[in-house]
Amino acid sequence: MKTWTNQDAGKETCPQCDSVYSVTIHRLPARDKDSFNCVVCGYEMQSWNDTEFPSFKLVQRGQPPE
Ligand SMILES: [Zn+2]
Repeated sequence: MKTWTNQDAGKETCPQCDSVYSVTIHRLPARDKDSFNCVVCGYEMQSWNDTEFPSFKLVQRGQPPE
């Protein structure tokens, strides 16, 4: 029986607008292909094609570039 563990992967900062995200790693029984874009400026923070994928929670909103 596989245990479902969520792993805290710390914080990621968007290089474009300095928004700060709290990252959690999730594990899936099947491969997932997706990506995450910064909700503030749209910058692609990460893309994956794996059984592990990150979820991003906005903790500090940055300033999108003009
Ligand atoms: Zn951003």
